[in-house]
Amino acid sequence: MTLNIQSQVLLATRNTLRLPTRAEYLVDVDSDAEILEALRYARQRRWPVTVLGGGSNTVFAQDLVGLVICIRTRGIELIDERVIAAAGESWDHLVRHTIEAGLSGLENLTLIPGLVGAAPIQNIGAYGVELAGVVEAVHAIDIATEETLVLSNLDCQFGYRDSIFKRALHQRVIITQVCLRLNHSFVPQLDYLDLQRWRALQSPENVTAKQVSAVVADIRRKKLPDPAIVGNVGSFFKNPQIDADAWRQLQQDFPGLTGREQVDGSWKLSAAWLIDSLGLKGFKVGDAAVSDQHALVLINKGKATSQDVLALARQVQQQVMSRFNLQLEIEPVIIP
Ligand SMILES: Cc1cc2nc3c(=O)[nH]c(=O)nc-3n(C[C@H](O)[C@H](O)[C@H](O)COP(=O)(O)OP(=O)(O)OC[C@H]3O[C@@H](n4cnc5c(N)ncnc54)[C@H](O)[C@@H]3O)c2cc1C
Repeated sequence: MTLNIQSQVLLATRNTLRLPTRAEYLVDVDSDAEILEALRYARQRRWPVTVLGGGSNTVFAQDLVGLVICIRTRGIELIDERVIAAAGESWDHLVRHTIEAGLSGLENLTLIPGLVGAAPIQNIGAYGVELAGVVEAVHAIDIATEETLVLSNLDCQFGYRDSIFKRALHQRVIITQVCLRLNHSFVPQLDYLDLQRWRALQSPENVTAKQVSAVVADIRRKKLPDPAIVGNVGSFFKNPQIDADAWRQLQQDFPGLTGREQVDGSWKLSAAWLIDSLGLKGFKVGDAAVSDQHALVLINKGKATSQDVLALARQVQQQVMSRFNLQLEIEPVIIP
């Protein structure tokens, strides 16, 4: 047996919210063979399994029973415009690597924390681009049967911060590899207001993927609290999506409300605006608070517990519900 299984491991440095949760058992795996070995080891002992990447989209509700499998597999292969990346690679490293290789498609997704294997789970997105637009296939291992699965882009059932991995396959598979199709030719995607403002200052023929990546990184550093300094999991709530009639009514009732029209005619509202307009920036429960920097981000001021964070999230949801009659949906995965 090659696995190094540790017991009673504090997870504070393995989740970006820095919750002081404990894992009953934990193993770092750096090959698919080790993933299979860890699954067998857990099954023989009837231990439940929890999969963890960079811990940047996870909220532990309590100490974890059973085995936490931390994915540390590495490897990036570029074949013309195809990219095959192991689940344990850093997402941002992959973005930079592909841009250096002259490929475009990931530049708007620069600086999203976490690992490649988690990216399809919530179909990561930023600045008008979603992972779904470049995924060719996702390779995974079925936790119960150890079978290898290959899911096409359609099989993944991608939606807004959503995929089959958050629904039918939730906690049922371990993603091992993600295959992407990128482009040697560069088509800038600059629909977002911040990027449009930047573009207005450039001569269009000079815009490169590397520049867009640098601008996105710059905007993100200014807008979002850095998890290396203050614990957080990025946006804590999804932007609510409503139909055009509801949007018109809300706009009348709340002038200043911001939203974006979607291709299907629905409207995506800014959850940050809803929370900010309630004056909730800085609002605290225990040591968890709504960030002063960005109303959509809940932060750990130092000693926050899972209970603090979840109670704060509930209070924000209740206040948004009673003022706007809108249900805010939590974005990160809550591990019960
Ligand atoms: C400051 C900050 C900014 C952020 N900005 C964005 C943003 O702009 N856009 C965006 O979409 N997200 C954003 N996020 C959220 C987060 O970075 C992404 O969701 C990221 O993909 C999570 O990766 P991770 O490896 O940390 O996942 P983890 O938190 O480790 O895991 C998330 C979920 O995926 C499961 N999982 C992880 N790896 C695997 C695997 N290999 N196989 C099966 N299941 C697995 C876990 O069990 C868990 O349920 C941000 C987070 C932070 C802290």
